[in-house]
Amino acid sequence: MSEPSALPVVGIAVESPQHAGMVPCLDYRSEQPLSPGTLVRVPFGKRDVPGIVWQVGADAAAVGVELRDVRQALTALPPLSGAWRQLVAFAAGYYQRSLGELALAVLPPELRRLDVTQLDRRLARLKPAATAASADPAPPALSADQAVAVAALLDAAPTTHLLHGVTGSGKTEVYLQAAAHALAAGRQVLVLVPEINLTPQLEARFAQRFAGHRLVSQHSGLTPAQRLRHWLAAHLGQADLVLGTRLAVFASLPRLGLIVVDEEHDPSFKQQEGARYSARDLAVYRGRLEQVPVVLGSATPSLESWQRAEQGAYRRLALPKRIGGGALPRVRLVDMSLLPRDQVGSRALSPPLLEALQVRLSRGEQSLVLLNRRGYAPVLHCAACGWKSACPHCSAWRVFHKGDRTLRCHHCGFAERVPRACPDCGNLDIQPVGRGTERLEEQLALALPDARVARIDADTTRPKGALEAQLGAVHAGDVDVLVGTQMVTKGHDFRRITLVAAVNPDSGLFASDFRAPERLFALLMQAAGRAGRDAGQASASEMWIQTWHPRHPLYTALLAHDFAAFAAAQLRERESAGLPPFSSLALLRAEAKSAQAATDFLHAAAAAAVDLPDAAGVTVYPPVPPPVARVAGVERMQMLVESRSRGALQRMLTHWLPALHALRQKDKAHRAVLRWAVDVDPLAI
Ligand SMILES: [Zn+2]
Ligand SMILES: [Zn+2]
Repeated sequence: MSEPSALPVVGIAVESPQHAGMVPCLDYRSEQPLSPGTLVRVPFGKRDVPGIVWQVGADAAAVGVELRDVRQALTALPPLSGAWRQLVAFAAGYYQRSLGELALAVLPPELRRLDVTQLDRRLARLKPAATAASADPAPPALSADQAVAVAALLDAAPTTHLLHGVTGSGKTEVYLQAAAHALAAGRQVLVLVPEINLTPQLEARFAQRFAGHRLVSQHSGLTPAQRLRHWLAAHLGQADLVLGTRLAVFASLPRLGLIVVDEEHDPSFKQQEGARYSARDLAVYRGRLEQVPVVLGSATPSLESWQRAEQGAYRRLALPKRIGGGALPRVRLVDMSLLPRDQVGSRALSPPLLEALQVRLSRGEQSLVLLNRRGYAPVLHCAACGWKSACPHCSAWRVFHKGDRTLRCHHCGFAERVPRACPDCGNLDIQPVGRGTERLEEQLALALPDARVARIDADTTRPKGALEAQLGAVHAGDVDVLVGTQMVTKGHDFRRITLVAAVNPDSGLFASDFRAPERLFALLMQAAGRAGRDAGQASASEMWIQTWHPRHPLYTALLAHDFAAFAAAQLRERESAGLPPFSSLALLRAEAKSAQAATDFLHAAAAAAVDLPDAAGVTVYPPVPPPVARVAGVERMQMLVESRSRGALQRMLTHWLPALHALRQKDKAHRAVLRWAVDVDPLAI
């Protein structure tokens, strides 16, 4: 026991190796009084680590313990606001992570490294943007629907709005005008988009409209120095607009006045590692916390958001018509079961579809052919002995890539040259089975010898700048038929495409994940939206779907462009099955060298849950392997936890997590578990 400290005590959030279950803050002494939200450097073990002052005053538990001193306080930086800290604390609690881990993880890595001197230097170099000489250009006139949406956004008390607008209906203009009002009131605007690829286009539109304001982006494609600069510009209030991907939901914005979440249904708003937060859901929370309006925009809203709007928790704003009176593309289903056998077989393209592509080609129009699987063929097969191109490290096939003659595993990345002969029996005639975009591109080039065929997928766009160059070729009219994965359906505005075809979308109808139909519907609606963006061509534009199940209700709704009917049918199914949004889920995942060790851990975890408070309202299901159980030599198992009450699930998890940490630490049997994690509101089951 040491002398009681005379210096004031502060609770600091630090990143600690253990997660959840430990005290949220560590106590330190500080010579100078520090406000909550101040960035500091403190000793932790033998290291010097960054931290954030979370509370002032001693924790009861810490009395009598010898405290160490705060080394440095970065007081040149204004403290992080109370609202920011509350957002982070909520996210840490809800997603079951430690406060310090999350609070520091969402700051730019460069900022975490700075000491007082380095920070001063950075701040000195940070020139406030020259006050713009140019005024913002005048906005275009709004359609009647847009005007209603903008008025609704501005009139009432701040709330969450679901802006449901078909593709081409001018959602962006609604964002822009709502942003203009917030900026005019001296507030900052936060715009979240699902992917980095989409930021340049939206950024350009915002930058053009708000030429008199400073806009910064926040996403993982920036250099560390840029990320710090942009973060500081927002935090210091120098930037008026922040446009970014999911991480930007944690941007420090002292004058926040509006949050926009574009394509709110997109799964990439959910972080898939570490703290598995949903930026969309946190944006809604943040809006409520800071009393600012939130706009969730989509042509195919998530069923969670749709249900909230149905219940009246969100206010629904509808843009049912395309700008300029353009018609939505006509949807045509090709019933593959009616085609003669010799016309389907191994061929990806039915004769009617080929004919339609030929007609567009002869008219000088562009077509987009969608296949959501890259590579040449998903597997190679030896007919003589039955060998298949399995990945030695995963429970998955290696994909045949013809371009660089490799067999590549899309789960662990393991790649080898394609063998000349079957590795098991020496048969020279090993065959690709099925098709990916690479093979489809080859088949299209053969079937349409006069067409200029191009392909856009994760393989063709790997080199920096490749995507921009390829999109440029499409826009310039140097491409007649574009083959692509879902990557091409997102946000790109292809004015000359008049035909979109989905070659093999049926697998999404019967996948094990209950969200698969929702994803498929969104993908097809979005793909259809690429066609006929020019009103002049819109009447002639079409979406073709090759299917073996033309009477499936999903396609019936798609034929009518009827999202509401699709959503109502899906929600009825979800309700009767007790699935989200009618229940809350969490997924406990475990990884080990053997499936048995992972399973044992999950069984022990289930046993530890039985006597917890609120356990009665929560169902813990038996462990099951995920669709791809083994990846890079590691076996994975998962266990679903479900409750009708979000609150009950949250309370149960809060008590369960410390028990899980203890389980792994105290019981030798569970040391074999390499990693485990809980995913609250998981998107993939
Ligand atoms: Zn063989
Ligand atoms: Zn693999």
